[in-house]
Amino acid sequence: MNPLIEQPHARSTCTDLAIVGNGAVAMSIAIEHRRRVPDARIAVIGPERRPGSASLAAGIMLASHSEIEATTFRHAAGRAKFDLIRAAVADWPGWLDVLAAIAGLEPPKIRAGTVILDNPNVSGFDPPNFDAILDALRRDGSDHELVDPADIRGYRPTPHLRATRGVRVPSDGAIDAFAVMELLDEAAAALGIERIDGRAASVRDGIVHCDRGRVVHAERIVVAAGAASDGLLRGIPELDGRVPRILHGTGVGLRCRATPGLTTPDEVLRTPNRGAGLGVYHVPFGSDRFYLGATNVVSVEPREHARLGSLHLVLQSAMDEISSELRHAECRMVTGHRPIGADGFPLLGRTSVPGLWIATGTRRDGVTAAPEIARRFVNELLGMDDGLPACLSPERRPITVLDRDQGIDVAVRSRLIGPGSSTGVSAGRLEDEVRRQVVRLYDRAGLDVGVPAELLDLYADGRLDASRLVASTNVD
Ligand SMILES: Cc1cc2nc3c(=O)[nH]c(=O)nc-3n(C[C@H](O)[C@H](O)[C@H](O)COP(=O)(O)OP(=O)(O)OC[C@H]3O[C@@H](n4cnc5c(N)ncnc54)[C@H](O)[C@@H]3O)c2cc1C
Repeated sequence: MNPLIEQPHARSTCTDLAIVGNGAVAMSIAIEHRRRVPDARIAVIGPERRPGSASLAAGIMLASHSEIEATTFRHAAGRAKFDLIRAAVADWPGWLDVLAAIAGLEPPKIRAGTVILDNPNVSGFDPPNFDAILDALRRDGSDHELVDPADIRGYRPTPHLRATRGVRVPSDGAIDAFAVMELLDEAAAALGIERIDGRAASVRDGIVHCDRGRVVHAERIVVAAGAASDGLLRGIPELDGRVPRILHGTGVGLRCRATPGLTTPDEVLRTPNRGAGLGVYHVPFGSDRFYLGATNVVSVEPREHARLGSLHLVLQSAMDEISSELRHAECRMVTGHRPIGADGFPLLGRTSVPGLWIATGTRRDGVTAAPEIARRFVNELLGMDDGLPACLSPERRPITVLDRDQGIDVAVRSRLIGPGSSTGVSAGRLEDEVRRQVVRLYDRAGLDVGVPAELLDLYADGRLDASRLVASTNVD
């Protein structure tokens, strides 16, 4: 047993910094703080096996440019998030070396390079988002190379679902989630960070009450419990209505092993993002292992189990769009809850409640962003420059990036993903019908502005409050 994990006799702990949650974001902040202030007492609270952790279920693509969408730079928050992630992708090799040196381990290897495929036969998002990625690569002077999808090793999609364009981005890559989380655990142990195996039940007035009666008193508390942060924050009356809700974006991925004779792609292959947090990707790690992802079903409460439809979607999309040969691989399903802010943007920084900080809402990018979030978060905790972007501060009105018509258009395209659904005469009739449904949902929700497509049903069902949304003044 790890001596730093739970001492049953100690029912009460006093500490300088209590971090609630033990995913990639929480662990990175704890480690970064301890490195910078070696005598700080830090406790990380979270169940040792990390049920529902998004970090453990992730791919993990370390991606900045490949995540760009046509709307990314419409708002200062989109630019701030991109800058954060881009810096993080550059940080990763050094971050791994630092963690490995602390832990006395070999650093896990980053699989460098990502090919983004444009598949207009499947999704109306692909061409505009692919163009936005190309524009940003050119504008930023980032290394990239246009490729003919036919030349990609192991790429064997269903013939009529072959991508029309591809671009290789050497700086975007991937890493194995299990290796990353193990390294974070070992580094935290080597630094003497206290671990409390359990869940926080409430956070109030500098005290974290945990299940099994454990109490932690802390000068500062960071709520970084991923999607579960919502329940804790809603128990703090001073924050009532001041912080956007955090939803559970339940995602299914498959960790796979190639069987002998099976040729699989040896670099990350992925589509651009397809609205509603969707898209298909293949992530190789090790010599014969790979990951297929991922789905996104958003709910207010956690769903313990994934849906059959999610599993079906991952399998079908991967075999249709990456390689039909993948059916020979062995696989194991992983499920995690992405923490999704009600406006789709991260919530990072201090609150108006003295000593209370929040680090969550990272949606699709939290593991990638973790080293840079940690660096800037600790800068702020220590009162130093180069802190977190003010527009991502947790106490805010939900950010709106799209007007109502744009929001409707994105929702329509999100519901039309699938082979042949965006081309031809019957596709036109289908689109009209879907558009009518989406407009009805917008009307039922009373929405005058656009919302992330994956959250529309929650607004229409009254689970999210549309009255707090105002048209943004901060659109480029
Ligand atoms: C299928 C899938 C694929 C993804 N792919 C990528 C990717 O390729 N690249 C990328 O960067 N991101 C990816 N993401 C998103 C990424 O995983 C998240 O943004 C990130 O992991 C969030 O980290 P976190 O530390 O905030 O939360 P989590 O990793 O969810 O950690 C939260 C932890 O808090 C614990 N906890 C829960 N309740 C409590 C409580 N009451 N008290 C204390 N602890 C509690 C949980 O058990 C969990 O261990 C993916 C997510 C999923 C689901």
